[in-house]
Amino acid sequence: MAEKKTLPFAYERKNVWDNKKDEIQAIYSFADDYKHFISTCKTERECVRFVEEEAKKHNFHAFEEKKSLKAGDKVFLRNGYRNILLAIIGKRPISEGVNMVVAHIDAPRLDLKTVPLIEDGDMALLKTHYYGGIKKYQWVNIPLALHGTVIRRDGSSVDLCIGEKKDDPVFTINDLLPHLAGKSQGEKKLLDGVEGENLRLVVGNRPIEDKDLSERIKALALKHLHDEYGIEEEDFISAEIEIVPAFEARDIGFDRSMVGAYGHDDRVCSYAAYRAIRDFAGTPEKTLIVFLVDKEEIGSYGVTGIRSRFFQNALGKLLRLQDPSAPEAAFREMFEKSFALSADVGAVINPMFKEVFDPVVSPRMGYGVILEKYTGSRGKAGASDASAELMGKVRKIFNDNGIIWQPGSLGKVDEGGGGTVAYYLADLGIQVVDCGVGVDGMHSPFEVISKADLHQAYEGYKAFLKDA
Ligand code: MN
Ligand code: MN
Repeated sequence: MAEKKTLPFAYERKNVWDNKKDEIQAIYSFADDYKHFISTCKTERECVRFVEEEAKKHNFHAFEEKKSLKAGDKVFLRNGYRNILLAIIGKRPISEGVNMVVAHIDAPRLDLKTVPLIEDGDMALLKTHYYGGIKKYQWVNIPLALHGTVIRRDGSSVDLCIGEKKDDPVFTINDLLPHLAGKSQGEKKLLDGVEGENLRLVVGNRPIEDKDLSERIKALALKHLHDEYGIEEEDFISAEIEIVPAFEARDIGFDRSMVGAYGHDDRVCSYAAYRAIRDFAGTPEKTLIVFLVDKEEIGSYGVTGIRSRFFQNALGKLLRLQDPSAPEAAFREMFEKSFALSADVGAVINPMFKEVFDPVVSPRMGYGVILEKYTGSRGKAGASDASAELMGKVRKIFNDNGIIWQPGSLGKVDEGGGGTVAYYLADLGIQVVDCGVGVDGMHSPFEVISKADLHQAYEGYKAFLKDA
């Protein structure tokens, strides 16, 4: 059979599996580490706790413990329980700019409403309000777990995690049987088949013994919450409780080449970024930062979103601890001398829905980490749009370090779009471009990535931190 030849001077994507034959063991074993992370960290708090505990074992110290900063020091700063920023201090002053990778640890899910528990139709139910862009019909009739933190009346807090252990109960949301769905769902548009207000979690069916009570099933649910977790109904008002898929990450395919899991967007880039800084060998020239941030899926607002002043304050603290006489201007100019990857996932071509993708430009699964010049939607609206110079710089770093990468964009021009944290970093004057792992089935309860792409993201982030 004649070998296919590339056109002279033409661009062609490279397949990771074909071009990284010596690294297949490393690709699979890195994915095993990732599966442990993604199976156990299903909320922002759980991600922060995991990264903080692991980072401490790798010589990262809380910023508050440091009296000064010297080259090679490893520190972390937390923003409450939902952001963590890791830094390795470089040989050059921080005021000369930093290299950073920023990813988000929030993921689409269902949050409990503030007064969630009701009784209806012989069941106790928890009302939810979905978080981020979900297709509501994907969240029914699957096992769901409840994760969160509750602040009780006396100010004490209790962490909940119900539905992850083998003998835990799980929860679910019951869809309508097909036999009766002809009119009430069949005549609606697909995306309206399940309505947000109806995403109510089934949490009980048995009534409490006291027959004088009006809502006996709700009463038994309240008794369980009280007896097992020390919670009363008002405590839900001061709580963050997230409803997430109750299953673990699994290998996908005969070849086990992919990972299916809840929350790849964007914990896959978060994990790759965290590992890139954790595994960084030696003392870097410039200071390295990995920042794991919250609230990206709902617009990056809030005190733990990237728009929050925490990020600037954290870099300001590092700068001032290194040089207490640094003027305000040095702080602001530091951003203009800095480079960032906005590490967020991209959508790979889905063979079932090819019509929404650009067959030449859209990323392909297994063809490496995606470098995305711009995001945005319909006419690049809301895009940061990296410069040719920055694209050239990152492309060269990747090529020089043997990283397999590919360009990307989110579907066809008029199909829709999306954004990332890139433009908030750009607001500060930071040179930033989007760069992440390709996902299929994005924002579903069970998203799919290629282990090959995950490994190239990890290697790519390491190369960027070292050389940008
Ligand atoms: Mn994302
Ligand atoms: Mn997303």
